[in-house]
Amino acid sequence: MGLVDCDKHGHQGLVWGISNEVQQNILADVSMTTGDIAYIQIPGEEFSYFQPGYVLNKKLYNSLELEKIPVNTKENIDIIEAVLKNHITGICIKCYTEYIERHNLPQVLIDVLGIRKL
Ligand SMILES: [Zn+2]
Repeated sequence: MGLVDCDKHGHQGLVWGISNEVQQNILADVSMTTGDIAYIQIPGEEFSYFQPGYVLNKKLYNSLELEKIPVNTKENIDIIEAVLKNHITGICIKCYTEYIERHNLPQVLIDVLGIRKL
């Protein structure tokens, strides 16, 4: 968990693991519904120490076809994370959580990024 200087919230925690399009929509407060968003949960901390999950726009998620790779071995998770690395960015934790709440999006989109573990 890094830090970010947010224009709106000042010095804040940086939440990592969202796609560029999700970040842009949140920063511009463009409305998204559950149909626009997909999330990937990495099961078990034995597999991934730093990134519990990812939140992607649906179009990107569909194009990556990651559901074809079972999230059940360290090798597979390394493959998934290598693919996602090219599409993932971060955002101010308050911008993210406030957006999710303001647009009545499900709590799982906060939980999946490990935000509650703070
Ligand atoms: Zn912010």
